[in-house]
Amino acid sequence: MSEYKLLINGKLVDGAKSSPVLNPATEEAVAACPRASEAQLNEAVSAAKAAFPSWSATPIAERKKVLSAIADAIEANASELARLLTQEQGKPIGDATGEVYGTAAFFRYFTMLDLPVKIIEDSEGKKVEAHRRPLGVIGAIVPWNFPMILMAFKLPPALLAGNTVVLKPAPTTPLTSLKLGELIKDIVPAGVVNIIADENDLGAALTAHPDVRKISFTGSTATGQKVMAGAAGLLKRITLELGGNDAGIVLDDVNPKEAAPKLFQSAFQNSGQVCIAMKRLYVHEKIYDEMCDELANIANNTIIGDGLKQGTQLGPLQNKMQFEKVKELIEDAKKTGNVIAGGETPDEKGYFIRPTIVRDITDGTRLVDEEQFGPVLPVIKYSDPDDAIARANASPYGLGGSIWSNDKDKAYELATKLESGSVWINKHADLAPNIPFGGARLSGLGSELGEEGLAEFTQLKIINMAK
Ligand code: NAD
Repeated sequence: MSEYKLLINGKLVDGAKSSPVLNPATEEAVAACPRASEAQLNEAVSAAKAAFPSWSATPIAERKKVLSAIADAIEANASELARLLTQEQGKPIGDATGEVYGTAAFFRYFTMLDLPVKIIEDSEGKKVEAHRRPLGVIGAIVPWNFPMILMAFKLPPALLAGNTVVLKPAPTTPLTSLKLGELIKDIVPAGVVNIIADENDLGAALTAHPDVRKISFTGSTATGQKVMAGAAGLLKRITLELGGNDAGIVLDDVNPKEAAPKLFQSAFQNSGQVCIAMKRLYVHEKIYDEMCDELANIANNTIIGDGLKQGTQLGPLQNKMQFEKVKELIEDAKKTGNVIAGGETPDEKGYFIRPTIVRDITDGTRLVDEEQFGPVLPVIKYSDPDDAIARANASPYGLGGSIWSNDKDKAYELATKLESGSVWINKHADLAPNIPFGGARLSGLGSELGEEGLAEFTQLKIINMAK
């Protein structure tokens, strides 16, 4: 029997079956994980539905106290959660610790927001108010790259607004979510938060469930499209945070030595498994050779290994499927580009790929056009910044992008031309709970975080009174 349990209707329960979660650094089992049946999923949704009337009627100040108590519980158990996160996800323990504390901070941020009634018009003839009402049961579906922080994009605003939740983590990284269930069991009223793990087989059922009013989904574009189709029948609300192929564009006035460490971090954090990782880098021809050399030098000096080991800078890929996909993209890139760092997988257990830099490669190759979601960066030469912008915008994705230059006005002007949900200048992937985040085109629908993210967990209701 597993030491981990599902959380359904305020009770910690075993799954209908159980299967191991593998540590991607060792390929050995971290723990047996309970896996829910569809009947258990239905129980979780019923529990959330039954808990909704009372939770939604609970004053917002009381709901905030629950969010704060969850944040306290996460912080009080931070080292255990971080260790577990490293074991199931692979990231270095320092990064895992940052993710755990970040998760608590996201819960705390939402305690500072309110949903006041807005007066739209108060004139002689009428008074019009805008209310934000909770939706009901929310299905929250999370991927495997940031199991904790991505959960915290969803749970705190959903709960603050008065909704109840069924949370489904990714099948390869469910343990931190289940541990959270254990920690919050006595903090959250029964049924308000339910946490189930699956074998990648319950997402569709959760999406289609008639009692689920909204799906908040983070994951791949292909699955996001299925979620949208699955939600169509009942016109469910959906928020989709999907894949990306973020471009970084470096202008000719940048000092390669100074910028390379920041660019490297933007592309390789979490071994490149970040939706808003820089996934293709356009560098001006004047500084191209020097920038490639600097990046290769950093890559060659990066320590990869088990995230629990002192000194590890990059961990493994999270799962075998992703590992194989990234290897395939590297092999394909070798046909047209030159690999100047990495390119090989160490001959040892674990899904490790050394950080890989590919130069002399361009658009029209798989590594540039597709989302690699791994530790490999194509560096592309350009001569005209407007052409680089056009190539960046040619992607079907539109999640993020960045411009790098010492000329702030020029960088700003180019930033206005990048067609993506977020654009950064002289940095990349700077996320915070108060800054709304969402994608353009195939990168998603709607936004999370900030006041806009909170509003997406509500139904706008207008009360229009004659005077
Ligand atoms: P995925 O789409 O395979 O899985 C995501 C989640 O969806 C998992 O919990 C999975 O079990 C569930 N799922 C599977 N089939 C489903 C279905 N038919 N209906 C509903 N849910 C279903 O994604 P992944 O491989 O776990 O994650 C990697 C992808 O996520 C990358 O493309 C990455 O860019 C993207 N991502 C996006 C963001 C963002 O905020 N935009 C953040 C992180 C990751």
